[in-house]
Amino acid sequence: MAHAGVAARTLATDTIAAVSSGTGAAAVAVIRLSGPRVGEAVRALAGRLPPPRRASLARLADSRTGEGLDSALVLWFPGPASATGEDMAELQVHGGRAVVAAVLAALFAQPGVRPAERGEFSRRAFLNGRMSLAEAEGLADLIAAETAQQRRQALAHAFGHLADRVEAWRGALVRGMALVEAGIDFAEEDDVPAQARALARPGLEALLAELDAALADRRGAMVREGAAIAIAGRPNAGKSSLMNALAARDVAIVSDEPGTTRDVLEVALDLDGHKATLIDTAGLREASGAVEAEGIRRARARIDAADLVLWVHDAGIAGEIVPDIATPPGAEIWVVANKSDLAAAPTTTPGAARILAVSARTGAGLGALTGALAAFVAARAGGAEHPALIRERQRGAVGEAADHLRRALAGWEALSDELVAEELRLAARALGRVTGAIDVEDLLDVVFREFCIGK
Ligand code: GDP
Ligand code: ZN
Repeated sequence: MAHAGVAARTLATDTIAAVSSGTGAAAVAVIRLSGPRVGEAVRALAGRLPPPRRASLARLADSRTGEGLDSALVLWFPGPASATGEDMAELQVHGGRAVVAAVLAALFAQPGVRPAERGEFSRRAFLNGRMSLAEAEGLADLIAAETAQQRRQALAHAFGHLADRVEAWRGALVRGMALVEAGIDFAEEDDVPAQARALARPGLEALLAELDAALADRRGAMVREGAAIAIAGRPNAGKSSLMNALAARDVAIVSDEPGTTRDVLEVALDLDGHKATLIDTAGLREASGAVEAEGIRRARARIDAADLVLWVHDAGIAGEIVPDIATPPGAEIWVVANKSDLAAAPTTTPGAARILAVSARTGAGLGALTGALAAFVAARAGGAEHPALIRERQRGAVGEAADHLRRALAGWEALSDELVAEELRLAARALGRVTGAIDVEDLLDVVFREFCIGK
């Protein structure tokens, strides 16, 4: 997990403190501190600094008044071997609101101690080279994870698996760049340039294929955002009833009047540990009013972008044809023949990958439907432990790197060494933005270490 970090580090002068445990009533609240005055602040409240990295019981008092505040477990983590790289401490106090407020107030009364801003501990950890940007993002996702699979993926990112993969890509670029630049340096001497460049090409081609494959793999995003499952169909087919039955709670309005579902309603589902978003769309039909027309337009957009469309169809109505839906590549359309309590479902429907008969009213067939949904989502998001790109920020940076690399390879014969090297440098910079390690120092390292130029 060691990362080539930001070259110039600026040590924070402020000491920050904040409650790090969850909000709300709890038996214990954890107050974290980080910065140069942590030692003094702890000494002021606890009377002494406990031995490093060991929990010690201490009586906390307000240094201004001498008033006792709480008895707490105090942990002292001297920098730089701490989570932020700075001096840190943790005060585990009783979780009552008044206790926490009093301890924080006593801390903020200490010189140079102020409340931490959002994400400031993580930002300091990044600035001090304790974690990469991709790891910080994994940590944020870990805290926000709702399903088991999201937790696993976030953990892999927080453990630096994506950062390691991106650093390996960047290393391959830097090696290619060093070979091309060797050509520049020796241009006037002999036949080194052409040979060095020829050596670089296969590795760079393999790298471009890897970047393109990573960009095409949307599983990571699918895990983070959840699969989008749109419920669509004609008015009164039973879309809202199905949504309610699946979500097992009243989220959509069910009514006998066509056109009630004017807006797009969403619920998050946890399908066997996989996140999915269920979207109830307005019935597709001729709009009779402006509000309804807008609802239909929005519904249409969500249906067209869904990973799976459940076309709800009234089993009593024979010969229904699923309309053309411009779903993204890999998306599927299933027919859900609803109201199976009233009529038998059709066995084939043109345009549908599969047909499932259900009754939103009696619950018949819903178990099979949720099982099929879970299998669909699991297949799409599978293997999420592998370090995939999950955020647009990461995807954008890797996409930019791939573009520069593609330009370098496309112009391999026509471009000068300098221009090829420049494209490779831009590609490496773009990759560096994924982990936050953008510097040219390791380029110099590679040139000197691997090539022993010795000029
Ligand atoms: P939507 O317009 O597609 O959202 O349809 P709704 O969910 O509002 O349902 C329309 C009507 O069909 C309501 O009166 C529901 O009670 C009824 N309905 C929905 N599902 C079933 C079902 O499985 N069986 C029967 N018999 N009626 C249903
Ligand atoms: Zn509805």
